[in-house]
Amino acid sequence: MIQAENIEKKYGSFTAVEDISLSIGRGEIVGLLGPNGAGKTTIMKIFTGYHFPTKGKALINNYDVYSDSLKVKKSIGYLPEMAPLYKDLTVYEYLQFICDVRKITKEKRKTEIERVVAECGLEQVIHRPIDKISKGYRQRTGLAQAIIHSPEILILDEPTTGLDPNQIIEIRKLIKKLGEHKTVILSTHILQEVDAVCNKVLIINRGKIVARGTAEEIRREMQGDFRYFITLKAHDGSEIKSAIEKIDAVNEILLFETKDNGLFNIKLSVKNDILDGEELFDWAVSNNFKILSMIPEKVSLEDIFIKLTKEGDEK
Ligand code: ATP
Repeated sequence: MIQAENIEKKYGSFTAVEDISLSIGRGEIVGLLGPNGAGKTTIMKIFTGYHFPTKGKALINNYDVYSDSLKVKKSIGYLPEMAPLYKDLTVYEYLQFICDVRKITKEKRKTEIERVVAECGLEQVIHRPIDKISKGYRQRTGLAQAIIHSPEILILDEPTTGLDPNQIIEIRKLIKKLGEHKTVILSTHILQEVDAVCNKVLIINRGKIVARGTAEEIRREMQGDFRYFITLKAHDGSEIKSAIEKIDAVNEILLFETKDNGLFNIKLSVKNDILDGEELFDWAVSNNFKILSMIPEKVSLEDIFIKLTKEGDEK
């Protein structure tokens, strides 16, 4: 549905996007995650046909954004970072205007407006001027204009920027709902957004993709070894140590501290996917150690994001 083959975009001599290849299939919600200036908007503008790549190919539904730009524009709905809303118009008048722009026939207009008003939850504000409605409703109006011609693909540039926490939750829900029937690509610099809305992530830094996959895949890839933090109750520490040494999957004992009342805090680094919590639990039982707590340590997407985008800065 959305494809890029080695695209590059230069503004003058400055390379904003470099050698990006990607493929987004039907029904996916993909988040472009990156710090300010990473190149997210540039990539989105290439897919909308607003900017052309200086190298490579970008395709929407197999249409080239350069040579088939009209067909591309019909296939996509776009919500730019600053939604172009005419604030003197009411929501209804604005949507009528968008129908004009999209050349939706007079006969179909009423039905299409009713559809997007229902989908985006705009019933309460439909006859109010846009400058008199909340930012959350304005963003819903922006989403309504993006779907009025029933596009298969939605391109949303930072769709929750500037909204309050309740509005953010509502807009994310709406995007997820729209994503049930459409392919969605959205940009964000908010990590929680990716976890809350997207099924795939592309982390962008300095115009390049530095990680891709589901949030879980990226975490696994970047995580290296697994770690468990365990609190055990046992009689004697040397007994525990020698029992641990017999577990093949343990790489290293990272922490071994004796607490009061025969409690031991232990942090183990174990080989990826070999020793899961259940086996560790069985090991403790067979050695007569009581496990009081066992916490797997996960690298957060935030840690990975900081690592990847910092590495880029050092180049
Ligand atoms: P933000 O989150 O701040 O919107 P972004 O990831 O969307 O950032 P872009 O807006 O794509 O990043 O910008 C990428 C780089 O290209 C930035 O360094 C920006 O200054 C530069 N840039 C963007 N548009 C132009 C332009 N029209 N002319 C020159 N440079 C530009």
